[in-house]
This record gives sequence, structure tokens and C-alpha cells, in this order.
Amino acid sequence: MQSIDMIKVKDVIIIGGSYAGLSAAMALGRSHRHVLIVDSGTPCNKQTPNAHNFLTNDGTPPAEIRALSLQQVLAYPTIQLIPTLVVNTKRLENQLFEVTTSENKVYRARKILFATGRKDIMLPIDGFAACWGVSVLHCPYCHGYEVSRQPLGLLANGDNAYELCRLIQNWSKELVLLTNGKANLTLEQRMWIESVGIVIREENIERLIHHNGLLQKVIFTDNSFVNLSAIFARIDSEPQCSIPEDQLGCQLTDQGYLEVNSFMQTNIAGIYGAGDNTTMFRSLAVAVGAGTVAGAMLNKELIEDDLG
Ligand SMILES: Cc1cc2nc3c(=O)[nH]c(=O)nc-3n(C[C@H](O)[C@H](O)[C@H](O)COP(=O)(O)OP(=O)(O)OC[C@H]3O[C@@H](n4cnc5c(N)ncnc54)[C@H](O)[C@@H]3O)c2cc1C
Repeated sequence: MQSIDMIKVKDVIIIGGSYAGLSAAMALGRSHRHVLIVDSGTPCNKQTPNAHNFLTNDGTPPAEIRALSLQQVLAYPTIQLIPTLVVNTKRLENQLFEVTTSENKVYRARKILFATGRKDIMLPIDGFAACWGVSVLHCPYCHGYEVSRQPLGLLANGDNAYELCRLIQNWSKELVLLTNGKANLTLEQRMWIESVGIVIREENIERLIHHNGLLQKVIFTDNSFVNLSAIFARIDSEPQCSIPEDQLGCQLTDQGYLEVNSFMQTNIAGIYGAGDNTTMFRSLAVAVGAGTVAGAMLNKELIEDDLG
């Protein structure tokens, strides 16, 4: 049996209460809007020990940033957070949105924001998932400085590998390109990579030897190995939540991100998106900025609905 919490229809339900979602909630709370945040507690950077490149919090553990953000956002009396998973969202005939959680609880709101992030798809290499965010890194701006001038691996192939080789040069000259199988590079790319002294290893990777996620060496399937302190890896990701496209008809970009305009509106009226689920440029500052825009634009739309 569904239980409907209709004590008050919320102005906005925010699905995903991490950097983008909490930032939107703050803008809405400061506008006296009634907001319900529903968050399942799996932000993509959960495993990383320290966040970087985020003003006022360079080097702070993500859990600390989260705790302070929650303290500040939930201080606004019109904001409520429920730690659970949203499994269903639909639009009712009266234009309200109805959100159902995994416990079959139902909540209603005038507008919806999806700030549900992306999920990184781990490579099936022993040790990869344990090192992810600790010494197997997605972004040099977030974690490059800490491993500068150290022997680093670049785990990628094809154009991605070439691009990564050019980028990471800035942080270290001791680079090994790990293509994890036959290299798929043009002759020009290979010549450039070798000309700057980057070693190309095409063997398949068997496992990563690490201590508490800190990489020590990469073992190949032929039992050869290379000692490295960290790896930058280009891996695939997918939306953490597919409700916008599967249940509500929201459009995705060609790259599989939720399509939003500069006001963070999707193609469906009343539905907004912000943060990693809408952009390839994944960073705390970008997610927080997008949340602020979404919060302000949601408030503006509510004003226009009420005042005409
Ligand atoms: C390993 C790693 C390390 C990083 N390090 C840095 C760094 O040092 N500096 C930096 O600037 N950036 C860093 N980033 C990028 C940064 O973490 C992201 O850009 C940021 O977390 C995006 O915020 P978000 O709110 O969009 O998504 P997320 O933080 O991923 O949060 C999405 C939230 O939505 C919730 N959710 C999803 N689906 C549902 C649902 N159906 N119901 C309820 N809740 C749901 C999840 O539980 C989660 O809490 C890192 C990323 C990774 C992967």
C-alpha cells in the first residue's frame, strides 16, 4: 500500500542531495520555498580521501564538506531531507509531480530537480575499484598536483590516450601509457607520444598491487610489471538515475547527458537538471554553480506561475 505524504505539497522535490542538489536547496531555502531533498547517499567522489580545486575547501575530505553543507542547508526551516532512493516519478493530471521512494512512500511537488550525478563504470581489473579515487584518478585538476613529478600511468587508448598524454605532461614527465591491449593510435600519435619519452605498454593488465588503495605496481597478464604511484584513467560513466529519460520523456545529449539549457531547464516543463548528470565537466565548483542557477530559476518559475 502506498502512503501519500500530502500534509503539504512541496514547491520543489530535489532528487539527489549532493553538491548540485544541496546548492539548489540552499538558494530555494533562502527564497522561503518548501523543498524536499531525497538522497540515496552515493556521491561519485565518496571514496576519494580529499577533495581539491574547490575554493575554501582545497584538500578537505568530501565527508566533511558534506557534513557542513547539510548543516547549513538544513538550517533553513522549509527544507527537509530524506535519505532514500527515488524509484519512480510521474506527472499527474493536475500537473503536480509525484515521486515514489523505494519504501513506496509518495511525495508531491510543483517542480522537480534531478541532481543525480553519474556512476563510473569500474574496469574488470583486480584492484581497480579499490584504487578508484585514491590513486586511480579521473581528473588532473582534482588530484594531479599531489602526484606531480612521480611515475604515472595513463590508462586509455586511441584518441583519448593521445589527449591524456598531452594533458598529463604538465604534471609529470615519467609517464607510461597503458593501453590494456593493442594500441589503437595513428602513426602520428604514436610518434608524438614516443618523441616526448612516454613509454607505451600494450600488454593486458592483470591486476593493480596497492596498499589501502595506494597504487604500488601494475602487473600485466604475462607477469611483467611496472612500478607506478598513480594512474589517470579514462573510463565510461552512466547516469546514476535514468528516471528523467525513462519515465518523464526528458531528452539526453548525444553523449548521454541530461539536456538542459543555461537555466538548467530540461525539455519538459517543470523539470530541471544540474550537476554531473548534465555535463562532462565534472567538478565540485561546477556542480555547486549549476545548483545555484537551478535553484534561482526554479524560484523564478514558481513566482511566474503564481503571479502570471
Ligand atoms: C573519484 C572522484 C574524485 C573526485 N574528486 C574531485 C575533486 O577533488 N575536486 C572536484 O572539484 N571534483 C572532484 N570530482 C568530481 C565531483 O565529485 C563531482 O563533479 C560532483 O560530485 C558532482 O556533484 P553532483 O551533485 O552532480 O553528483 P554526485 O556528487 O555524484 O551526487 C549525486 C547524488 O544523487 C543521489 N542519487 C542518484 N540517484 C538517486 C535517486 N534515484 N534517488 C535519490 N538519490 C539519488 C546519489 O546518492 C548522490 O548522493 C571527483 C569525482 C570522482 C568520481
